Amino acid sequence: MTCIPEHVRGILNTLESGGFKAWLVGGCLRDMLLGRTIHDWDVATSARGAEIVSLFPKTVETGARFGTVTVITSGGLVEVTTLRSDGVYSDRRRPDEVHFVDDLLEDLKRRDFTVNAMAMTGAGGLSDPFDGQGDLERRLIRCVGRPEDRFSEDALRMFRALRFSAQLGFDIESLTMAAIGRCAPLCAALSAERVRDETEKILLSPRPELVGAAVSLGLFEGRLDKADGQSADLLDVQSPALRRIAGLPEDNRLRWSSFCAVLQSNRRTASARDFLRAMHLDAKTVRSCAAGAETALAAPLPKDRPALKRLLSHIGPDAARCAAAADVVLRGGDTLRRIEEVISGGECFSIAQLAVTGDDLIAMGIAPSRQLGAILKKLLDHVIDHPEDNKREILMKRALKP
Ligand code: ATP
Ligand code: MG
Repeated sequence: MTCIPEHVRGILNTLESGGFKAWLVGGCLRDMLLGRTIHDWDVATSARGAEIVSLFPKTVETGARFGTVTVITSGGLVEVTTLRSDGVYSDRRRPDEVHFVDDLLEDLKRRDFTVNAMAMTGAGGLSDPFDGQGDLERRLIRCVGRPEDRFSEDALRMFRALRFSAQLGFDIESLTMAAIGRCAPLCAALSAERVRDETEKILLSPRPELVGAAVSLGLFEGRLDKADGQSADLLDVQSPALRRIAGLPEDNRLRWSSFCAVLQSNRRTASARDFLRAMHLDAKTVRSCAAGAETALAAPLPKDRPALKRLLSHIGPDAARCAAAADVVLRGGDTLRRIEEVISGGECFSIAQLAVTGDDLIAMGIAPSRQLGAILKKLLDHVIDHPEDNKREILMKRALKP
């Protein structure tokens, strides 16, 4: 089991010496028991916001309404949250109000899955009212309470179930899974940002093929076209296409573009651009991923180096890498490795990489007009086929040829 780092132990001790109760909770405890790397530490406490603030020299009230204070230490940031039970979820997203409570069980009850609903004191005393430990051993994602009720309160939990299953390699317990099938349409009301973040975590996990399950189960309701039953089922979790995503580098753009290519070839969206925009991805990501998916869908990517360099020159390195990733996922092969070789090998595929500049040509007496651009393009075209000619003297001479 991973050890509690000093700065986190210090926070637990300070809260306890101040007369409050304090526990490690949520994902950090789950990952600690699994021996996984822990990226953020969460502490639950009986202390209220103002009391937490008064105990530590440096704090930020991150979510005062929800009782969360971020404690800043030299070892890192730790979120400290007052024990609470959630009120009504009228917008199916965030509770309208939270009630601060003194009972740890109430706090654990509001949490999504049994493996996320455990707590541990600094001394190692574990509270595990829903048998999270048993589910860690059985490798199961199971809702705390009635799955339908929990998914109706917050539909994002359905995405989270698939996300944890993809990240941890756990199965989803059968009643939890059956409820996802029934409650899936509720995801239509979720904000694009929340859906985007969970989808990206699935795409970047060791089992990205589970995005196919999210689509088939209907979690993208209202964000994708309906299945028309005519397309080849590339979205099946078993499909070699989706499984190939796991072989790509852990790069969000490469994974989004290949997901889009699979969606488009399965006729679940007419436009990768529209889908990615609706998911509120940033403009640069939308541009590269949409151009990449479209290029790979239009035709298989070329294999020879000059043709790959022309593609790089035409759509730019970001979109070309996305196109190569989508090509690998749709058809197999090693186009992405070839593209990476061209890029990292420093081979010339753009005017900026030519051994002469526009200024060199102007100094030789060529007028700074459209003709100049055409000459540079011709030189690039030549260098793409003859990389050995990317030398100043050779290109100066060629520039003067009619
Ligand atoms: P990770 O940080 O590895 O993504 P995590 O389990 O820590 O996973 P967070 O989103 O950081 O997930 O949330 C911390 C804890 O808060 C969870 O473990 C869970 O107990 C609770 N939680 C988070 N989101 C929800 C939710 N939508 N419904 C119920 N409980 C939640
Ligand atoms: Mg967390």
